[in-house]
Amino acid sequence: MRRLMDSTRWRFIACVVVSNLLSGLVSIFVWMPLADRLLTREKPLGPWMPMLLSILLAIPISSFISRVSAKPIQDMVEATKSISRGDYTVRVEEGGSGDIAELLRSFNRMTAELGSTEMMRNDFINTFSHEFKTPIVSIRGFARRLRRGGLTPERQNEYLDFIAEESERLSKLASNVLLISRYENQKLVGEQMDYDLDEQIRTCVLRLESQWSPRGLIFELDLAHLPCRNNSEMMEHVWMNLIGNAIKFSRDGGVIFISGKMENAFITVSIRDEGVGIRPEDLGHIFDKFYQGDSSRASAGNGLGLALVHRIVELGGGTITAESTVGKGTTFRLELPANSPG
Ligand code: ADP
Repeated sequence: MRRLMDSTRWRFIACVVVSNLLSGLVSIFVWMPLADRLLTREKPLGPWMPMLLSILLAIPISSFISRVSAKPIQDMVEATKSISRGDYTVRVEEGGSGDIAELLRSFNRMTAELGSTEMMRNDFINTFSHEFKTPIVSIRGFARRLRRGGLTPERQNEYLDFIAEESERLSKLASNVLLISRYENQKLVGEQMDYDLDEQIRTCVLRLESQWSPRGLIFELDLAHLPCRNNSEMMEHVWMNLIGNAIKFSRDGGVIFISGKMENAFITVSIRDEGVGIRPEDLGHIFDKFYQGDSSRASAGNGLGLALVHRIVELGGGTITAESTVGKGTTFRLELPANSPG
């Protein structure tokens, strides 16, 4: 800011000097010879005449130069007013070099970023409302149909199961949205404790037994001792989501491999399934909020799980990547510092 003010001050000084120089030169080369002729006439017009003419010339020159040099700032003032009215499409004309040019470029970058954040916010609200409305509408439809009566007991049970499933999905959606907004606003991992990550993973596999055991899935675990210090509640969300997905997208009777090791105070965990896989065009989006790869499987989730996982890993100073081959399976690889920062 100080550099900018210095540069503006220098521009102003340069403008005054240039306009004075110009009017001085005009005085020397135009008005003085003219004044000389006028003064040496029989009835001289007086010395004030060339002075007045010089001043009259200096005013438009200096006002033109200062208007040209102040134009970028004026454009930016106008653009700022448009932004405050919510118009993020506005841009200022870039050009030149130096601090003002840099400021114009940064201003345009800032406006573009504000615009895309606003778009993401609107997108989030639209998708969120849609995701919420759809199950509510179907629950209402099934409840009305049940109230009308005349259904066979099997049909009745089927509709009741459907209502229970959709309510479950809604409640999961609500808690995931709350968690994601909480973690997105959080800058640090929060409450940390010392525990064994390998034990936590084993416990999560057991907690999900009701989902994998009836489908004949097999778990193969190869976990070293992984002592760590981080937010265990958050990490539990990570394993429940990744293992839950591996189960969900595996074929019955498939194998899920989980391995973990510690190297140079970094923990690496990989979760591999032999399931349906992810299409290459989906792979780059799976960590986006509400993204669901294949619409035929969309009813099973809400597309928030991996966005949540990604945010938690990021907060813990780690990374997560995915590799997948359609029809062959998917591997998620996590790298986390054993002692999380913050
Ligand atoms: P969802 O609730 O749909 O599972 P996620 O955010 O957990 O949402 O996952 C986003 C998408 O990534 C899923 O809809 C699915 O298409 C894909 N996906 C995630 N994990 C796997 C996996 N292990 N195998 C195949 N596809 C997966």
